[in-house]
Amino acid sequence: MHEWSVAESVIRTLVQWSSKNRVIEIKKVVISVPSFSMLDVDVLREAFDMMKGEYSFSGTLLEINIKEPVFKCENCDSTFSVNDVGDQIEKIKLNFGEEYPLHLMPALVPAFLVCPYCGSHDIEVSSQSITIDKIEVEKS
Ligand SMILES: [Zn+2]
Repeated sequence: MHEWSVAESVIRTLVQWSSKNRVIEIKKVVISVPSFSMLDVDVLREAFDMMKGEYSFSGTLLEINIKEPVFKCENCDSTFSVNDVGDQIEKIKLNFGEEYPLHLMPALVPAFLVCPYCGSHDIEVSSQSITIDKIEVEKS
């Protein structure tokens, strides 16, 4: 249950942040989740809602954005998005069906894709981590 540990770390961050900033009530927290992660957004929300009461964040709303990964070619230094390699991903889907491996294992991405600019396989995937983008508090 990866979702529960993510929800817990978001809440832990809120606890630290609120005590550091002397904030009592947090209205909303906005997080970004990579589209390639296997996280179930509904389960994540549910986990957050169940845990938040224990940490006096009962009134805190969780907003989840889906973040597209950014690829970087180590060979020519270009960066590109999923859209730029859409035709390559379509091909992979055709070969593997809907449960295509990119979705299942983000770490496999460089093995299946080539840089659209130079054709290199030396590709890194960024924005694979979950980030807290915004914390909204009640203005006093
Ligand atoms: Zn390249």
